[in-house]
Amino acid sequence: MRLLLKANTDDLNFLANNDLELDTNINKFYLKNINNVLKFKDWIPVNDFNVLAENLYLFEITRTCWKCHKETKCVCIGSNSCFIVEDSSVRHSEDLMLFSYLKGVPGKLTRYLEHNCNYKFGYSKKINDSYFLNHCSHCGAAQGDYYLHEYPETSFYASLCYNNAKPLKYAQFLNKYIVPISGRLPCYDEVCNSISVMLTHMLSGIENRASLEISQSKVNTLLSKAQKTEDIVL
Ligand SMILES: [Zn+2]
Repeated sequence: MRLLLKANTDDLNFLANNDLELDTNINKFYLKNINNVLKFKDWIPVNDFNVLAENLYLFEITRTCWKCHKETKCVCIGSNSCFIVEDSSVRHSEDLMLFSYLKGVPGKLTRYLEHNCNYKFGYSKKINDSYFLNHCSHCGAAQGDYYLHEYPETSFYASLCYNNAKPLKYAQFLNKYIVPISGRLPCYDEVCNSISVMLTHMLSGIENRASLEISQSKVNTLLSKAQKTEDIVL
């Protein structure tokens, strides 16, 4: 799958660049080799991207709003085929990852998430930073990512932990090109192996990712337990 750059044929310097090829159908350049992406990071349409997703999914659960106590929809995006860009390295991953504390996605996807999912960039007092937040469809209160990603009972992967969990729904985006993303990567195995997180469970009695053994290999089975809905074309 191709990764497009913001440059088009008006950017004459790009025409002679051996790392790039022109997609003549849309008059945009794409990278011949993803491993060279860092040389062109200023030309990728999402600032500070750390994920380049080939497969892209929208995950959806319902949760009880902490403020008005009514049921509301919450979403996140994830991938099971993407390139992870860290410091100076690029590696491919086929692990299923749900991205949290999302900072940026391309414009069309941003508008889709805002208009269709009430998932939009905003400020969170709790972490004193801005990211894409879910908002209650009844009262508008922000539903922070901590409870959707870190706290198993109300998380997107609750169905891996509890038989009576509300079903997870997912839809696949039918993207023709690679989607750059800026967000936080999960580290399921680190938490699963964490003695301090396990101790917290033993002292408090509250279940957490370590006590429920939420590992990467377990998360990789999530799609098979979820309900697939209609594909999304942007
Ligand atoms: Zn509410």
